Amino acid sequence: MKITDIRLARFTAPLRVPFKTALRTVENVSDIIVEVHTDDGRVGYGEAPPTGVITGDTTGGIIGALKDHIIPTMLGKDVEYLEELFTLLDGSCVHNTSAKAAMDMALYDLYGQKYQIPVYKMLGGARKQIETDITISVNPPEEMAEDTLNAISRGYDCLKIKVGKDAETDIERLKAVRRAAGKNAKIRIDANQGWSPREAVRTLEKMQAAGLDIELVEQPVKAHDIEGLRFVTQYSPVPVMADESVFSPRDALEILRTNAADLINIKLMKCGGLHNALKIVSACEIYGVECMIGCMLEAKVSVNAAVHLACAKRQITRVDLDGPVLLREDPILGGAVFKEKDITVSDAPGLGIEGFEAGRLTYL
Ligand SMILES: [Mg+2]
Repeated sequence: MKITDIRLARFTAPLRVPFKTALRTVENVSDIIVEVHTDDGRVGYGEAPPTGVITGDTTGGIIGALKDHIIPTMLGKDVEYLEELFTLLDGSCVHNTSAKAAMDMALYDLYGQKYQIPVYKMLGGARKQIETDITISVNPPEEMAEDTLNAISRGYDCLKIKVGKDAETDIERLKAVRRAAGKNAKIRIDANQGWSPREAVRTLEKMQAAGLDIELVEQPVKAHDIEGLRFVTQYSPVPVMADESVFSPRDALEILRTNAADLINIKLMKCGGLHNALKIVSACEIYGVECMIGCMLEAKVSVNAAVHLACAKRQITRVDLDGPVLLREDPILGGAVFKEKDITVSDAPGLGIEGFEAGRLTYL
């Protein structure tokens, strides 16, 4: 099954409401789609969202990495030798993990199609269904309470709240969210690198003292500050999850080896795809650290690949794959079924994406 053509396209879809974190505000998803065609007429799909402030991967960077490095490396290659293709993919250029992730998932898609097995079963087949949390954007407390009520009424019982802009206001926001959510809902928070280590410990102590009952905090300090992360992990009353600090399997190993975090958030766009995500999952399993699977603001092609991974592996105990439900429309055919918090993986061979509604892709 030789790769005969690789096409790139742009896919754009509006969000239901603007998505705000400590780092950015986004109103549309506008991602690069990769279509990998083979000599037996199959098509494998991949997706890469530009997230310059997180991964450094911009739209132009993703297109450049694919056109100048990844596509020339992959054309003419045989998909049946997956292992070799991943070595070539990782070696095609440094960094550019989003572009690599898009190619990686298209390769898994084709391999699964060839051997008529859904990717989640190929990788372990732990379960068919998972439940995602939902992110509540950073806004004034009253507005966040309203968004919380809305999420609870739609059946969500695990909320992810973006914090990290200003500690005092964060606590006010969380009080409003906890009041609206009731005491049974889980509340996890994501500071997106917004605090200093001491500020993080102080703030988390205050939050728990205020009865906010926070399940975990994601990335309290700067991505590069592993010492600071370890400090928070050691002294915080709230379990700490590394997100922006862990891109590669090597990063994960460093965190695990030094006990710098209690939990690790895996995202395909950070690690360069499923083949590297699997290495992180295995490392976490060895160290007895549970994982969350997360996504950027992505549409269903790449989030669907993350669903396959989450359904394959028991070590992934938490799911933050709310990208598709944050979109106002779903013009992508096939793949996992997203019904608010309930996600059901597709049993179609490969990743199960069938294509896009007519006219939704702009080929580059
Ligand atoms: Mg995060």
